[in-house]
Amino acid sequence: MGAVYYASCDFASLQGFEQFIEPYFRDTEFDGARVLARLEDVVETLESSSPPYDGPAARKLLVARDLRRLADVLRGSAPLADPADSMPRNHERFESSFRRYGLSFSSPALHIVETFPAPYDTMDWTATSPDAADEREYGIEAGNYFKEKHLVPVGSDILLAHEMTHAIIGQVNPDLLGRGLEEGIAVVVGELLIGSSVFGPDVVYQYARHHWFDQRATQINRLYADYARMAAAIYHRCGIDALIELIRQGREKIKEAEQATLAGLAPSGLPTGRWDEEFGALVDRVCLQTVRDLTVSPLTQWVATFAQVGRSSSDVAELAGVTPEDAQKSLKELQEEIFVIVTGDDRIDYSDAGFITGTQSLRYLV
Ligand SMILES: [Zn+2]
Repeated sequence: MGAVYYASCDFASLQGFEQFIEPYFRDTEFDGARVLARLEDVVETLESSSPPYDGPAARKLLVARDLRRLADVLRGSAPLADPADSMPRNHERFESSFRRYGLSFSSPALHIVETFPAPYDTMDWTATSPDAADEREYGIEAGNYFKEKHLVPVGSDILLAHEMTHAIIGQVNPDLLGRGLEEGIAVVVGELLIGSSVFGPDVVYQYARHHWFDQRATQINRLYADYARMAAAIYHRCGIDALIELIRQGREKIKEAEQATLAGLAPSGLPTGRWDEEFGALVDRVCLQTVRDLTVSPLTQWVATFAQVGRSSSDVAELAGVTPEDAQKSLKELQEEIFVIVTGDDRIDYSDAGFITGTQSLRYLV
């Protein structure tokens, strides 16, 4: 799964994709060569159906195409280390990155555990960052805890940069609730700024796309994307200095900024300075330029490539290898659900499907 951060795939839900492929890889060892060999077999199986393709067949073809992209990553030189080895190393690198921005804090301990310490032992979270208040209340050592069974190459490392942001903020005033704009800061500063210092902007972009724009994201996950946008607005107005100052001053100040922003005002009392072109481009790409809802059924994603001006539904059916009824259904979805084509008299009169699919902005629900 770590390969998804080095590829550009078309699925609209990382969770859905993972659930779909999991049965095929259940018994495969965590070993690059074995995974790659298995991957090639799975692609062959998924591509074995013949036209006319229906919805389930289209889904298999699209998953196979994404798996081919992952196979290319595995054949290349992407650093997909076991997170149990890479995380302690990246923990140090992230820490020096945070310090380079002038933050001082005591090093948050990193624990990779089978179960979280009580009372969090029953929670099915991926990671948690208990602070001094938990230490006092429950006797848990403050720091970042990651559950071993949920570790994913690259994904867990970037999540670590996110969690470290909470841990640093939590050292200032652990008794206040860490949420809201603080999550936005953990995304924008932790994942995008600190995370990209190790993994580069493209990998971090894929991480954000898969986590914050997952079509199966729950309301609580969608809130992260909204708060990331709020942190992006602060960055654009005041620069990196303001975001760092919010981390330095802690939760009280962050809540004050959140309250002002929610009331439609600008947060006050923050320094301004330090805009960075590359970082700004990444922030915009994640927070402003990605369109979440350009998502369609697998059959429609498959058909969209053939939806060019001048074609009738039977032309499209023939080219896509689907039945004329399915072609009509998909063209209707492209027109009525996401409005990228206009048809009249069974002919496509207008179509932006070409550049929408060409930029990989159209994604399929899996
Ligand atoms: Zn968080």
